[in-house]
Amino acid sequence: MNVIDLHVHTTASDGTMRPAELVRYAKKKGLRAIAITDHDTIEGLDEGIQEGQNIGFEVITGVELSVDVPAGTMHVLGYLIDHTQSELREKLRLLQEVRMERNMKMVEKLGALGIPLQLSEVKAAPEHGQIGRPHFAYMLVKKGHARTIQDAFDRYLGKGKPAYVEKFRFAPDEAMHFIRAAGGITVLAHPFTLNRPQPNELEALIISLKGKGLDGIEVFYPEHSEGQMKLYRSLAQQYGLIMTGGSDFHGLTKDDVDLGEGYGGKEVTYGLVEAMKARRESRLKV
Ligand SMILES: [Zn+2]
Ligand SMILES: [Zn+2]
Repeated sequence: MNVIDLHVHTTASDGTMRPAELVRYAKKKGLRAIAITDHDTIEGLDEGIQEGQNIGFEVITGVELSVDVPAGTMHVLGYLIDHTQSELREKLRLLQEVRMERNMKMVEKLGALGIPLQLSEVKAAPEHGQIGRPHFAYMLVKKGHARTIQDAFDRYLGKGKPAYVEKFRFAPDEAMHFIRAAGGITVLAHPFTLNRPQPNELEALIISLKGKGLDGIEVFYPEHSEGQMKLYRSLAQQYGLIMTGGSDFHGLTKDDVDLGEGYGGKEVTYGLVEAMKARRESRLKV
């Protein structure tokens, strides 16, 4: 079998499987390779790679960064990165640091609203992933300050609400720069979340991102319609960008998309990895 999955989360971010467990699962499912792409962190890579070596399974290094855009949501995937490179590690450490500062500010804001909550309590919330708003929401519900998670967001934690604290994100060109500086390939994740329904708007954005160091587009993704995949594929071909694809698997309990599935998986095969490696090689030569 030649099927791969280039978009997978582990417990290092908000997935439910440990990296080693995930790698074993991928091998058991008959996949040829996976890329571990946790949000804003590379902490799961060593364990995943190690397990891959133990059982003879290819694990591709990756990361998924949320970047700053005026509207919509933009995620940039980095592949084939040298995750031991110090500049990359420093940038990601900074993200963890600002995340903790943001959590502390949310504790302060809630305190000022008459809701005493300790950071230690928030940390103990049985939510997956790095400490953030879902953990706060859980505790607000548990302590009777909100009826549901959604209510907690609507009243306190959502954007523009009284306990909301702006989130720091790198600019797209900065994120792409440090991924490339670590030897990586940059890919625009799930373009539909950019919320650019007009094809020419998306095209203009892709041209501009290419000028700033974009290598590829995530064409194959469970939430992409046939039409979207067709459009993204033609944009990739037109602008000389590689194509990637993945399930955005977060574990078996969290959603219904399984590893290596959800996008007419036939096309997401090892050839995409070879194209990615070739692009990396050709860039390193210049
Ligand atoms: Zn994403
Ligand atoms: Zn993801």
